[in-house]
Amino acid sequence: EIGRDRQARDEVFELSENAVAVLKKRYLKKNEAGEAIEEPIDMFRRVASNIAEGEFRFREGEEAKRLYEGSKEKFLRMMLSRKFMPNSPTLMNAGRELQQLSACFVLPVEDSIDGIYDTLKHQAVIHKSGGGTGFGFSRLRPKNDLVKSTMGVSSGPVSFMAVFDASTEHIKQGGTRRGANMGILRVDHPDIEEFIECKRENDKVNNFNISVAITDAFMEAVEGDTDFDLVNPRDGEVMRTVRARDLFEKIVAGAWLNGEPGVVFIDRINGDNPTPQFPIESTNPCSEAHLPPYDSCNLGSINLERFFVEGERPGEGTVDWDELRETIHTAVRFLDNVIEMNSYPLAEIDEMSRGNRRIGLGVMGFADVLIKLGITYDSEEGLAFAEKMMKFVDDEAWEASRSLAEERGVMPHFEGSRHEARGDRVRNATVTTIAPTGTISIIAGCSGGIEPLFAVAFMRRQADMELPDVNPEFVRLAKARGFYSEDLMKKVAEHGSVRDIPEVPEDVRSTWVTSHDISSEWHVKMQASFQKHTSMGISKTINLPNDATTQDVEDAYRQAFATGCKGIAVYRDGSRDAQVLSTGKTR
Ligand code: UDP
Repeated sequence: EIGRDRQARDEVFELSENAVAVLKKRYLKKNEAGEAIEEPIDMFRRVASNIAEGEFRFREGEEAKRLYEGSKEKFLRMMLSRKFMPNSPTLMNAGRELQQLSACFVLPVEDSIDGIYDTLKHQAVIHKSGGGTGFGFSRLRPKNDLVKSTMGVSSGPVSFMAVFDASTEHIKQGGTRRGANMGILRVDHPDIEEFIECKRENDKVNNFNISVAITDAFMEAVEGDTDFDLVNPRDGEVMRTVRARDLFEKIVAGAWLNGEPGVVFIDRINGDNPTPQFPIESTNPCSEAHLPPYDSCNLGSINLERFFVEGERPGEGTVDWDELRETIHTAVRFLDNVIEMNSYPLAEIDEMSRGNRRIGLGVMGFADVLIKLGITYDSEEGLAFAEKMMKFVDDEAWEASRSLAEERGVMPHFEGSRHEARGDRVRNATVTTIAPTGTISIIAGCSGGIEPLFAVAFMRRQADMELPDVNPEFVRLAKARGFYSEDLMKKVAEHGSVRDIPEVPEDVRSTWVTSHDISSEWHVKMQASFQKHTSMGISKTINLPNDATTQDVEDAYRQAFATGCKGIAVYRDGSRDAQVLSTGKTR
């Protein structure tokens, strides 16, 4: 029965109006007049056959043809059934002239004018091709330090970051998306205070997210309330000593004000770096990918909602684990092929990416599947399910990488890797990461990444009218359970959340939770649960109410460190000028 249902469901190819609108605007092939010359289904066919061509890199003749046909069919099915979506650049560029398929890159910033300006050029090339870039600025000598060749003084990391920011402003990413950057500075760099405050005004360095790379030594100094040395990276000279807690308070104050800076726990990231021969100084813009300089990462996400199977009676639904396993294996093969088919913007990136073969398989539709299973996001049951789910994805992804290693060989940078040390013959340095899935979750029609629902309903301005836009699944449920009325839907849209609406049955109120209903403590707990079984990082917004205090932010940052997270970024409601979506409640 389940088999037949599954097949029937897989054969339906449906996209929401929003998904079609997004695809038309930026993803579908266009002619010179700017008209789309492919339908969404053609786009998925283009991607499936292009990525399946990777099979010809490893086998020849009839065998290669057979593998190609098999992969093409599986890749296509997995996308048409919306079970899996690769990151946006793959959807946009596979099988087209650009053929640049990765979302994330990290570039080195050397302490020399040549180095800085080479990287500036490389940033432009990457942005033009649709990728985001991360930079560690920690190797740059501090402001007012000596420049030997001119006997002048250096202007420091923050001023060079402004140069990268200005350049971004002028390069529209491949004509499709604006450049996104991550700027990172170590907490022991002498210019750290200037860095922490460089985004205080909301109109500064707008093309960058910033994060402080926090070391274990710094966290110890905060805990012990001791002094902390700021060191010149050029020669190791201690330039100043500060009270660690004062510095920590500055970081927290910035995060409270407008979410910047975030932090990354750099020693922990390097402690888990599978390729320690290439140390990590930065992450990609949304901080889920931890990459050494010149590495890139191809992301793809599994839509968990598609693996829910209804039970006989309401509340008896389950997850189709067999089908999920199969999809994970196909997705890993897909992403390994992406590495092969990718046309990299630089020779150095080509070498590093093919050598490490980092892939980032993640999940989306997590909130949707929780609701269908009747599990509350902010509950022990929610955390346990998250851990079980991610462990399954990660274990199976490694299993897939091991069988690819047998078929195609281990990753070229296997020697010197942690995998070699463990005797684990894998083809990919990393297999999992949780991306924000900002656009691909719209295409797949599911909740983003591992975030809770943003709202059950919100008021949407359309043709000068304010109309309630209600989650269609909620409408269906309300009708089936007999509590639907237009007035109630309007009330829900004005509130955004249903937790405090008595007309909604108790059990529905407890599972249909939104990010604003959930305390920051539970947001961090969920992030930590996913981190346990993820090779790289987690993109997660830790929401705080508008009236949260700096102490609340500090608690969240400490909790993230204490529970094994790799970094954290908070968002206090209403703390930035422009909010993308808003619920009635927050306006
Ligand atoms: N990214 C970018 N520009 C954007 C959106 C995303 O460069 O406008 C990069 C960035 O590195 C981010 C990654 O793509 O961390 C993944 O973002 P997301 O999952 O939202 O992308 P999607 O594939 O859904 O478009």
